[in-house]
Amino acid sequence: MWTGIIEKYRAHLPVLDTTPIVSLCEGNTPLISIDNLAKKMGIPARWYVKYEGLNPTGSFKDRGMTMAITKAKEAGSKIVMCASTGNTSAAAAAYAAKAGMGCCVIIPDGKIALGKLAQAMMHGALVLQISGNFDDALNLVRDITDEYPIALVNSVNPYRIEGQKTGSFEIVDALGDAPDFHFIPVGNAGNITAYWKGYSEYKTLGKSQRLPRMMGYQASGAAPIVLGYPVLNPETIATAIRIGNPASWKGAVNARDDSGGHIDTVTDEEMTVSQQALAACDGVFCEPASAAAVAGVLKWHKEHPFQEGQTIVSVLTGHGLKDPNRAIEISSSPITVLGTKEGVMAALMPLLS
Ligand SMILES: *Cc1c(COP(=O)(O)O)cnc(C)c1O
Repeated sequence: MWTGIIEKYRAHLPVLDTTPIVSLCEGNTPLISIDNLAKKMGIPARWYVKYEGLNPTGSFKDRGMTMAITKAKEAGSKIVMCASTGNTSAAAAAYAAKAGMGCCVIIPDGKIALGKLAQAMMHGALVLQISGNFDDALNLVRDITDEYPIALVNSVNPYRIEGQKTGSFEIVDALGDAPDFHFIPVGNAGNITAYWKGYSEYKTLGKSQRLPRMMGYQASGAAPIVLGYPVLNPETIATAIRIGNPASWKGAVNARDDSGGHIDTVTDEEMTVSQQALAACDGVFCEPASAAAVAGVLKWHKEHPFQEGQTIVSVLTGHGLKDPNRAIEISSSPITVLGTKEGVMAALMPLLS
């Protein structure tokens, strides 16, 4: 029986036999071959997506949150707090509920996807919207948790990174080695930092023969690492990566440089097209920010064509149902027909011929 990432990878994580593990059986997400899209785009490499949208709250944040909440519980904390573009608040609220702890989340006013907000509310968190962006929210949370006995569960909490590194363990365990290329969206940059840590640790232990090139993608309207300076007013439809001053900036740059990788931008349009193409070609529905890891592959392929025999992994960080408004906005509306056989067949005929 699968009982979550801490039980599975406890030898690689900072837990003791006595640590009270708080888990919703996160992790063990599938690596899905997206051969249809690869073929359509003329990419001869083996291309997989790590579908993190299938975690308990629908994003990779659960991997970090099981560790952060477990360690907060071990330390005797009664309340946790985070700033969030959405998915962190959903995960924090769910794991705090499981742990019997209080949870307060600070979100940017009006810029949070509907599904994520619904989750935080349903799991009973105190949800506070501020007039400001994610970076403002994180500063506020750091201030408050410095002064009061409240545990900070953003990815500046090192236990988050520890939990999230298990994503690379699963990829290596599934493939038998690290891929050649690892594509990943970059927001606050905790996840790219965590994946690189995981790949490096596994290599050191001899569990893999090689390391992947770490390929990070920011939204063009929120690309501080690519620009080299913080962005005061980050803007993108991919709200999960709408971040102007990433907390793990240095970790991302190290991952890129140590792996011979690359950090670049993709536009909102490129993410949208990739999100739709992936859903339509291979049946995998991810949220807009996650599609940066697919758009990045297409952008890189134009300049540096992938070869047969290479392996690519794109991390799909969150589920498409997180942001239903956006999906409906970019799709064509249902067609209204008469509720008769003739009415339906008139619309269906073009598909049959
Ligand atoms: C949090 C999040 C990201 C960004 O991850 P970072 O660790 O902040 O770089 C990307 N996609 C989704 C869906 C997220 O929830």
